[in-house]
Amino acid sequence: MLDIKSMTLEELKAEVAAMGEKPFRAGQLYQWMHVKLARSFDEMTNLSLAFREKCGSRFAYTALKTVRVQKSALDGTKKYLFELADGKLIESVWMKYKHGNSVCISSQAGCRMGCAFCASTIGGLERNLTPSEMLDQIYAITLLTGERVSNVVVMGCGEPLDNYENLMRFLTLLTDENGLHISQRSITVSTCGLTEKMRRLADENLQITLALSLHGAFDEKRKKLMPVANKYTIAELMDACAFYFEKTGRRITFEYSLIRGFNDGEEDAEALAGLIKHMNCHVNLIPVNPVNERDFVQPDTAKVAAFKNKLEKNGINVTIRREMGRDIDGACGQLRRRQNKLYLG
Ligand code: SAH
Repeated sequence: MLDIKSMTLEELKAEVAAMGEKPFRAGQLYQWMHVKLARSFDEMTNLSLAFREKCGSRFAYTALKTVRVQKSALDGTKKYLFELADGKLIESVWMKYKHGNSVCISSQAGCRMGCAFCASTIGGLERNLTPSEMLDQIYAITLLTGERVSNVVVMGCGEPLDNYENLMRFLTLLTDENGLHISQRSITVSTCGLTEKMRRLADENLQITLALSLHGAFDEKRKKLMPVANKYTIAELMDACAFYFEKTGRRITFEYSLIRGFNDGEEDAEALAGLIKHMNCHVNLIPVNPVNERDFVQPDTAKVAAFKNKLEKNGINVTIRREMGRDIDGACGQLRRRQNKLYLG
């Protein structure tokens, strides 16, 4: 069955015409799905029962089941564990900032990138999410919180550029003026660094922010954390980032998880500065979130501050990521991991 929520308005118009229905029905369906955020055809009350039934037999209609919600007592961050139609689990996070509400979504159930510090990858990749399942995370959270989402970050479970076509379609639908109409500039896509795909994304000429998970300034160290570093060198990554900036004019965000005694030294900060100081960029320092199955430890605050200082002395923009939802398994994939363990033992 066709996944109706992953279809563009144009595609839907063609489908509706093929069903022998009037063209404006496509617009109504689209509005129910992407503006009114209907969870089923049944909710589309200005459509006849006969037409709704016809749609029900022709199209699959995705909706997420909320398995768990955890609210942080520290900062109001909410973490959602959702179940997909086939029982797979994903997680999404809602964060409230002064400038608006931000949702962090997953792009895959599981992940096959194998980063050493990340909980999402422990059980490997289960499957790619469809565009509708990516949208559903934002729609469900909008309905559950009753608040508008203004920013979307694709930084949850999964490697978005490893699910490229679905990601593109998701971005088209999310930014569509007939849908939620989130501005491209309010969207960030984070990658562990698949250079061919980064270049392809640059060529799409979107105004979204690209975030690169660097986590190391030396190839040898990066390889210890991220298997993907065996495939692409840091030099290749820097070229791809420069290309992205050249094509889109959007400054790159570098994510750098600080791990005590591993990549938090002066020589690391120095090397990082050397790599990026000539670029139009921003660095997000993330004290590593301890994951049960891993024994990575955060540097103390003085060390984090020293690292930041070193970068700033080189004229680099740096923020230390506020640890949102620290008390609620805030790190990628931890909630899902815990639940899967309960299920699977
Ligand atoms: N696959 C994408 C997006 C998902 S991860 C990517 O690699 O960018 C989002 C960010 O959180 C990445 O920078 C990732 O490296 C980081 N991350 C994952 N687990 C973490 C942990 N335990 N502590 C700190 N950062 C973590």
